[in-house]
Amino acid sequence: MFIPIVFGVSDKRHPLAHGVRHGCRVCAMETPHHLVEVRRQLALFFIPVWRWNKRPILICNVCGNTESIPPEEAEEIRRRAGPP
Ligand SMILES: [Zn+2]
Repeated sequence: MFIPIVFGVSDKRHPLAHGVRHGCRVCAMETPHHLVEVRRQLALFFIPVWRWNKRPILICNVCGNTESIPPEEAEEIRRRAGPP
């Protein structure tokens, strides 16, 4: 009997805050950003079974540039911005 095993690894984005004012390196000015937590995820039969490599990133609303930030800075931004 043959049972196919379907699995995959992908990055999932979880929003933490929207409209965060932050200096963008590409736009060279302060622009609104999305604060997002990215998690690498292993799914078995499309059900997430393991998550690792959590990291916060800021995404510029104007140009789409992404910037990794330390978790402490992300927590501070999230506290200031309120719920997403
Ligand atoms: Zn930008």
